[in-house]
Amino acid sequence: MKLPDCSTCHYSFQWKELLFIMGAKKCPKCGVQQYITAQRKRQGLWFGPVAGIITAVIVQTAPLPFSFIWAVAGVLITAAILINPFWLEFTEKDEPLF
Ligand SMILES: [Zn+2]
Repeated sequence: MKLPDCSTCHYSFQWKELLFIMGAKKCPKCGVQQYITAQRKRQGLWFGPVAGIITAVIVQTAPLPFSFIWAVAGVLITAAILINPFWLEFTEKDEPLF
């Protein structure tokens, strides 16, 4: 796994700079706005519904206490936020989604 570079000056973003990114990030070195590529944004759109369906299936089929399900959901969401920076890709242009 590797953190994304600035598409303009190839500055390597730091993990903590990308933790709570929403759509775009300004490069601290060259100042050019970096946008998440349309491909990555489309893949990201799938994540929420798929995670929701998987959770619903597990809740329906496995007799687990709710406190356990919430604990697992909390761990998964935290892990997704922490891993997210490694999965990002940047481009200089804000690409249309479709
Ligand atoms: Zn840059």
